[in-house]
Amino acid sequence: MLILVRGLLVTNAAWPGKAETGLLAKNRCTGYSCRYSVLPARFMTSLDLTRPLVFEPIFMERIWGGRRLETEFGKKLPPGRRIGEAWEIVDRPEAQSTVRNGPLQGKSLHDLWMNHRREIFGELADSQRFPILIKLLDAQDKLSLQVHPPARVAERLGGEPKTEFWYVARADPGAELFAGLREVTTMEDFKASIADGTVAERIHTIPVKAGDAMFLPAGRFHAIGAGNLLVEIQQNSDSTYRVFDWNRKDDQGKPRDLHVDLALQSIDFTDCRPDLVRPSGEVLVSNALFEVQKWSVQAPREISQPGQFAILCLLEGEADCAGLHLQPGELCLVTAAAKDRTVRSLSSRSSLLRVTIPRSEQD
Ligand SMILES: [Zn+2]
Repeated sequence: MLILVRGLLVTNAAWPGKAETGLLAKNRCTGYSCRYSVLPARFMTSLDLTRPLVFEPIFMERIWGGRRLETEFGKKLPPGRRIGEAWEIVDRPEAQSTVRNGPLQGKSLHDLWMNHRREIFGELADSQRFPILIKLLDAQDKLSLQVHPPARVAERLGGEPKTEFWYVARADPGAELFAGLREVTTMEDFKASIADGTVAERIHTIPVKAGDAMFLPAGRFHAIGAGNLLVEIQQNSDSTYRVFDWNRKDDQGKPRDLHVDLALQSIDFTDCRPDLVRPSGEVLVSNALFEVQKWSVQAPREISQPGQFAILCLLEGEADCAGLHLQPGELCLVTAAAKDRTVRSLSSRSSLLRVTIPRSEQD
């Protein structure tokens, strides 16, 4: 029998004559319940990170959101609200992921980045904050037509650059994404179409199904269409410049703010008819900011090399990652220092996204 003391040392009296002191670890969390096990003391380091880290999601109410994060992904949403976004991995001044399990329970992602960087994230370029942000998005209605600033204009405009990537986890029949322009245009021409209410006719429309993915370099005019449940991986930034919001009003009858001048300075007016991502083997996208791979898991497999962290997001099936049970829509972070880095499927078919930050070329 285990003496359960959350996060503290406990005695395991289940092994007669072999009682050991260890660190209590939550190792199987499904959102509502957790099973506990005891890690023998001899396996502990100064920071025992035997299990991958799980973070608490932060839910955002949105005019275009719904309830699908609960119905499809089992998230426990606040009742009666249209939830558009779950911020799963975030280190921003206005929003912080906190650890749900293990000895770091309650710590913020920023704390981990500042105080345990090498052990958790490995050798990465220095930055003020953890450089990527991961969200799950439930678009019941379409999002505003928008753009995020490229680095060269973000600085001038007082914003932050944002390149993003969407993976379509679920899509209703007829679902679409909007990205890039139908034709090359000029800023003046584009501005005129905003004024006369026809700017939505300028955006390129792409029909999508589950499994599709889209890369959106900063400066690409875009929006998410209705009926998409997406995993979004992006630069750590919240600079969004809205061009058009479909003449919608919020519950108070007010339209949301537009940022037309900032958007006009950020949009790449030569960016026409971009394609969906064409995977290269398992790699969906790889650049200096982030790398995203999609894996079909059958045989047990190491999620990353020792010294490299990886974030998993289970898409389908059921899987075990170093003793942590994962269901669709659940994420975890396997630390750089973890000894057990094995992911295995617990169902006939499991698939996942594996997100990491490539090491810089000087390394
Ligand atoms: Zn966006």
